[in-house]
Amino acid sequence: MAFVTGGSRGIGRATVLALASAGHPVAFCYAKGEEAAQATLGEVRAAGGVAHALQADVADAKAVDAAFGEIERELGPVAVLVNNAGITHDGLVARMSDEQWRSVLDTNLTGAFHTIRRATPNMMKARFGRIVNLSSVGAQLGAAGQANYAASKAGLLGLTRSVARELARRNITCNCVAPGPIVTEMTGLMPDEWKTRIEQAVPLLRFGTAEECAAVIAFLCSDAAGYVTGALVPVDGGMGMGH
Ligand code: NDP
Repeated sequence: MAFVTGGSRGIGRATVLALASAGHPVAFCYAKGEEAAQATLGEVRAAGGVAHALQADVADAKAVDAAFGEIERELGPVAVLVNNAGITHDGLVARMSDEQWRSVLDTNLTGAFHTIRRATPNMMKARFGRIVNLSSVGAQLGAAGQANYAASKAGLLGLTRSVARELARRNITCNCVAPGPIVTEMTGLMPDEWKTRIEQAVPLLRFGTAEECAAVIAFLCSDAAGYVTGALVPVDGGMGMGH
């Protein structure tokens, strides 16, 4: 079965739907948005898929442990793990509070460590596993006003490549997907002039869709991607090309 963190909306929601339509029973967690989670659950079930939703803060190791316990009881061991849950808390570095820094690192980077630590013993026993971590084009380019976010997303690349090396001999792959600007609630609140400026920096001259990200994530989770590990796969309209 597959587990997607932050699967209630945005890229996570599209990933839940893509994995379910590829035949995986899918569990997903969310932080607070019960209504969105129920809507996603309903969509999977309406399409004939099997899904389970639960509230769990990935930054909290105990909550992650409890979530895995529930998921394993409901759907069996996790063979496919997508670390998608992520937040931003922007600010210029000179004025960034400890809480701004910590909350973003705890959710985006430590959250992925918590789930990987909990999922991999069963993957090792099964001699199969697929792990995909959501990085960002900002990990390589940097992003003014997002030192915490870019650091967390660059950290995910180091985590990904270390896990890929550690677990390759057990037939477990671990990869990063690095989206560029994607239409979700995370980018929805940007002023229009920012959006226009960002579009100009994308060779394809537009934001991507959550479904375009989910298709790449689902590929990396598939049997067909068995020889891909430790990769950073951009889904960014060419924005990060050359880095
Ligand atoms: P959204 O803000 O649309 O959705 C975030 C999801 O993560 C929600 O389901 C949210 O649940 C969940 N979540 C947030 N914090 C936690 C937490 N502590 N524990 C569990 N779940 C949590 O994000 P996007 O779909 O835009 O982004 C998905 C991933 O892709 C993120 O990692 C993001 O950094 C990355 N990304 C996105 C880009 C973009 O342009 N959108 C660009 C590059 C990377 P709830 O609704 O309950 O809060």
